Amino acid sequence: MNEILEVKNISKKYQGKEGEILAINNVNFSIKEGEFVSIIGPSGCGKSTLLSIISGLEEKTTGKIYIEGEEVNGISDRIGYMLQRDCLLEWRNILSNTIFGLEIKNKISKESKDYAKNLLKKYDLYDFIDKYPSELSGGMRQRVALIRTLTTKPKILLLDEAFSALDYQTRIMVTNDIYEILRKEKITVLMVTHDISEAISMSDRVLVLTKRPGTIKNIHKIDFGIENRTPINCREKPEFSKYFNTLWKELGVDEK
Ligand code: ADP
Ligand code: MG
Repeated sequence: MNEILEVKNISKKYQGKEGEILAINNVNFSIKEGEFVSIIGPSGCGKSTLLSIISGLEEKTTGKIYIEGEEVNGISDRIGYMLQRDCLLEWRNILSNTIFGLEIKNKISKESKDYAKNLLKKYDLYDFIDKYPSELSGGMRQRVALIRTLTTKPKILLLDEAFSALDYQTRIMVTNDIYEILRKEKITVLMVTHDISEAISMSDRVLVLTKRPGTIKNIHKIDFGIENRTPINCREKPEFSKYFNTLWKELGVDEK
């Protein structure tokens, strides 16, 4: 079918000081185009490892990654990656930060710059293009970081705890904001989080990993049956606490 990402038998061994550490073991899953999928699991179970392998920044020990049916080794143009820190460059203004992703990928052209500017306009940042990151709120900085990633037109966006540096109130607003941008731009998303509510509020499916070595323990389909679903409005649905309890229990077993 229209599977955009396939992860097959991925394992990763690190060489630690005291010998080998098996971080993840035999991870298998796939994602369909347009889906929003989250990964949750106990701290240290290999979530970041899995994401950096998919991004191509970290080598895998075994297994294969396919994007749109093609095997990929290393960094792919079709993947965007966002981390907890927004990694904006303090000495560059917002416009120059936004096109930085294009610069490092050698994709600066009039067309690509116009695309970046249009995204800034579309998402209410155009008035800030001459400002510097320190002049923006945490939420706005995260929006700039997202737009910088989107300028290179990735098919799949990887988010690793991208909102966890923000305080609770801001985080709720920012996830709502970012979710709407991602839906409008029709980006497929794979997000790692330790926050069960965040995972439920944004995802079509949640993958639960076991403790280290991380492997898929369960996959939950999340469906609120509402048409214009947002991370905020689905929190009021009775299904929300039902999903929360299920996932909480499933993670709790491993924390003991
Ligand atoms: P998570 O993101 O789920 O908290 P990580 O993927 O960061 O987990 O780490 C999984 C395991 O692999 C941890 O035990 C961690 O200590 C180990 N690990 C991560 N990166 C390295 C590395 N570069 N070298 C050695 N061990 C590592
Ligand atoms: Mg991590």
